[in-house]
This record gives sequence, structure tokens and C-alpha cells, in this order.
Amino acid sequence: MTVLPILVAPNPILRRKASFVPAVDSHIQKLLKDLEETMIAEDGIGLAAPQVGVSKRVLVMDVPANVTVDGEELDGVDPNPNFYRMVNPEIIWASEKLATCKEGCLSVPGQYAPVIRPDMVRVRYLNEGGVSCETDFSHLQAACVQHEMDHLDGKLFVDYLSSIKRDMLIRKAQRVGR
Ligand SMILES: [Zn+2]
Repeated sequence: MTVLPILVAPNPILRRKASFVPAVDSHIQKLLKDLEETMIAEDGIGLAAPQVGVSKRVLVMDVPANVTVDGEELDGVDPNPNFYRMVNPEIIWASEKLATCKEGCLSVPGQYAPVIRPDMVRVRYLNEGGVSCETDFSHLQAACVQHEMDHLDGKLFVDYLSSIKRDMLIRKAQRVGR
């Protein structure tokens, strides 16, 4: 596995629509491993391939299932499964109920802002073995998977803010650098 450098906004690769993956082959499996190692090295909870300069619809996420959008642990909820490797993910259902989560991003380092998204989503994707899966996500997992999927469409969490606030956070992030 390899730790890859993470692109920082406003890098134009972060704004591209990533391409559909025709098959989960050994190259994609290697990319998933590299994303995993990079995410762990950077202390992230999710990472999408465009963030390491690879414009493909691939992401990894490591969020316990029992953690709320406020970062609190829910009693009686199993934290597992917490680790997901996804290829070509798509949201096939989203709740009308919304939730606000204070989000950050390894590509906008040091910046955080509240983002409102559906509280629950159902995602269809291929796993690392190329098997089609459907998973329901709620709590912090739901916010995280939607954030990572936005990266595949060239969208950043700051795009949910006013343009003034967005530009300010991107400017500040460049000063933080990586
Ligand atoms: Zn991000």
C-alpha cells in the first residue's frame, strides 16, 4: 500500500466529474488499498479517489455505525460494520428528514462548517470483490458517505455554504496547506 498526496482546493481535479469504473480489477483493488492507507495516515474518516488525483468513482469510509452527527456514541447500537470500500456508489433512496453535521475535508484542511443533508440514505455500490451491495446509512455514516460521493461529482462541502463563506474557507485552507 502507498500513502498518496492529497489535493487541496481549488485544485481543478477536485472539480471534475469522476469516471464510472467498468470493472473492479486489480488496479481498482490497489487504489482502494492506497486510499485506505492514505486515509489512515491523514487521520480521515473518508477519502474519495479524486482527492488523490484519480478521477474514478471509488471511495473508502471508516466511520462507526453508532456515532451521531454530533460525534456522540449511541447506546445499544453496534458500531460495526464501520469500514466500507465502494466503487460506482449511487444513492437510491434518501430520507425526507434532514440532519446537520459539522463537516470538514482533507482537501479543505483545517476548515469546518455545518452542512444539511438527508438524515438517512440507501447506497448501491460494488464492493472490493466487485459484488453489488445495497446498504442503509444513518447518523455520521450517512453524512460521510454523502460527502465522499459529492467528491465523485466534483462537489465540495463548502459548496453548500454562501459563495462568500465558501471562498473564505478555501482561501484559509490554502494557508493551512498540507
Ligand atoms: Zn472531503
